[in-house]
Amino acid sequence: MSVTIGALRESAPQEKRVSLVPEVADKLVKDGARVLLEHGAGERAGFPDPLYKSATWGDSAAQVLRAADVLLCVQPLGVEQIGQLKAAAVLVGFMQPHARSDEVRALKARGITSFAMELVPRISRAQSMDALSSQAAIAGYKAVLLAANQLQKFLPMLTTAAGTIRPAQVLVIGAGVAGLQAIATARRLGAMVEAYDVRSATREQVKSLGAKFVETGVSAEGSGGYARELTAEEKAKQQEVLESRIAAADAVVTTASVPGRPAPKIIPRAAVERMRPGAVVVDVAAEQGGNCELTRAGEVVVHQGVSIIGALNLPAALAYNASEMYARNLYNFLKPALSNGELQIDWSDEVFAQACLTHGGEIRHAPTAKALEGST
Ligand code: NAD
Repeated sequence: MSVTIGALRESAPQEKRVSLVPEVADKLVKDGARVLLEHGAGERAGFPDPLYKSATWGDSAAQVLRAADVLLCVQPLGVEQIGQLKAAAVLVGFMQPHARSDEVRALKARGITSFAMELVPRISRAQSMDALSSQAAIAGYKAVLLAANQLQKFLPMLTTAAGTIRPAQVLVIGAGVAGLQAIATARRLGAMVEAYDVRSATREQVKSLGAKFVETGVSAEGSGGYARELTAEEKAKQQEVLESRIAAADAVVTTASVPGRPAPKIIPRAAVERMRPGAVVVDVAAEQGGNCELTRAGEVVVHQGVSIIGALNLPAALAYNASEMYARNLYNFLKPALSNGELQIDWSDEVFAQACLTHGGEIRHAPTAKALEGST
């Protein structure tokens, strides 16, 4: 019998994205699966029900949860929803394992096979499944638009009959996927862009986008291409240089994060107080505690004339494209396990093995198991 792949209307507040878009639903049906959606699943992302030509419909979220062999999600399911899944169900989506202990315990207790998109290995073969990257790129783009919108200045240089307008200075802190997209977007809008990251490997990427790299003399190469935490001395040196660049900026977009840890605090109150009134900080790391001391998640704080935007869930602000990209990531992840409409997971495939959070009543992701159960 063919596998039933379900998707819900996301219930988290402000979440407009959907895990399955019509194009991907059609592909899954072509691959022999049955697609079961909750009514209105894609509505807030710009995909009303009639666009899903090949889907079948559930009357309620509960009905989809009970019938799905594979359930796709954007935000982690709550404990109650997990309780409604079939015992042998497979769940695929963002799981936030470090923050959602109760949910991970519930997945384990119910024997659900869960794959966390955060855990997909960042190897070349898995790039098309890399949902962290697809969504981070959107966040970086949108962060610059928020800054531009809040600023009382043009971003580009303008030569007009009323004289020449100087271009705005944008500083991007953290040049990972989100930061690089922020740099590219600010450059396209004509701003003068500087950028900084603790990983020196980003220097060339920053320069190739037409931005200037801020040299602080500190490098924090960690393992697997990620940053490590800095020592106190390194932090002080980095800080000194960065704060002078922050003071000179009209807009600062911060995206710095270290996996599984609170976001590094890079912009203290004193640095904000050195900025010009009217300047803007967009803190893309607000969800992880923020890169700026004054950031309040989900709020715009105005301090001595400087606006600090505690941006939350920026990808949802571009829900149409974000859903398209996310649903394609999910499809590319699932596709190798789909054959003749049935799901067969090859556990020797490192992508499935590493992305697995829970399976067979166990927490398979060692750091999560250690955090929750004290064992590896
Ligand atoms: P991330 O979201 O974890 O962090 C964002 C950036 O913040 C990183 O570039 C990090 O170096 C930087 N940062 C951390 N602490 C900082 C500090 N104190 N000051 C300034 N900057 C700081 O990163 P990400 O965007 O998910 O990317 C992480 C790495 O993974 C990068 O090397 C990226 O190229 C790599 N990556 C590889 C693949 C692939 O090969 N398939 C795909 C995506 C990303």
